[in-house]
Amino acid sequence: MFSRLARIVILIGLAVTIALTALIDANADPLAKDMFGAEKLPTVGAPKSYGFYSKGCFTGGVAIATDGPTWQAMRLSRNRRWGHPTMIKLIEKLSHDAVEDGWPGLLLGDISQPRGGPMLSGHASHQIGLDADIWFTPMPDRRLTPQERESIQPRSLVNEKTHLVIDRYWTPAHERILKRAASYPEVERILVNPGIKKKLCDTVKGDRTWLAKVRPFWGHDYHFHVRIGCQPGSEGCKKQADVPEGDGCGKPLAWWFTEEPWRPNENPDAPKARDVMKLSALPKACQMVLNAPSPKSEALVTMGDTGGSDNPVARVSVPEMAGSTPAAASAFAPTPKVDIPMPPSRPRG
Ligand SMILES: [Zn+2]
Repeated sequence: MFSRLARIVILIGLAVTIALTALIDANADPLAKDMFGAEKLPTVGAPKSYGFYSKGCFTGGVAIATDGPTWQAMRLSRNRRWGHPTMIKLIEKLSHDAVEDGWPGLLLGDISQPRGGPMLSGHASHQIGLDADIWFTPMPDRRLTPQERESIQPRSLVNEKTHLVIDRYWTPAHERILKRAASYPEVERILVNPGIKKKLCDTVKGDRTWLAKVRPFWGHDYHFHVRIGCQPGSEGCKKQADVPEGDGCGKPLAWWFTEEPWRPNENPDAPKARDVMKLSALPKACQMVLNAPSPKSEALVTMGDTGGSDNPVARVSVPEMAGSTPAAASAFAPTPKVDIPMPPSRPRG
């Protein structure tokens, strides 16, 4: 028989072991968003996406420059200008094509974190470098200051109660930019608010095949979301389902205009998937992605016309920006005269 003292010592020993094991487990399997949210730079090497849009990561990411002649990136503090090089090239191309179509230039929302993965805030997807948000608010004809890029509130195009597009905000240019984005073979889906899908269904004349890629989804009332397919060389990338046949108007859209999709969440405080996703829930490769080396600087992996140290926003002091246009902005083509409403402020939750 053990003495009482011996039993106490054994019990304490057990308790310490259990506590330590729990601690080691927590360290070995942390929350994925904490790990990926802390990464400042991508990995060097070939671009590869691992996993799915809402559960994965990627290597070989590149950033789009904060400024180009036909775009400006918003919310710079989030450091979400990273994507698969094909995604970044596609955004650049869309920005040029959009200007040709009469859109003054793109305001870019989130793409991905430098190595993807779940984020500390917002978005369930955007995890493998193949998703990008683009504002429905066109680029103004001056460079926004870094502060403005944080604070300007985009305007929703959709009435919150009726879920229909607010007609005075909708222009043919909105239709054209969505059609242009849908025209690229790499693009598999464009997510928009159901009200915007309905507006297209009701008004698009002629070729309607591109409407198949435009999918209704909650939110997406002040931006559209462009998703490209898994890219060659990414064997670990999980392909999304093909979009259904047809233009997606009529019956498939009708559900969105019933009460069901808009019922209040029964459990509003339940944690979101990205908030509880452990590192172990991601593809195994994502652990290696976290440990892989970074390039020496962000400039080395920034694409676009004014990346890195040539970035006019970085070089020009804020008071100077506020009153005048920096030299680099002279590359900005004359803004076509199109009737597109500019952003007023509209606070959004
Ligand atoms: Zn998005």
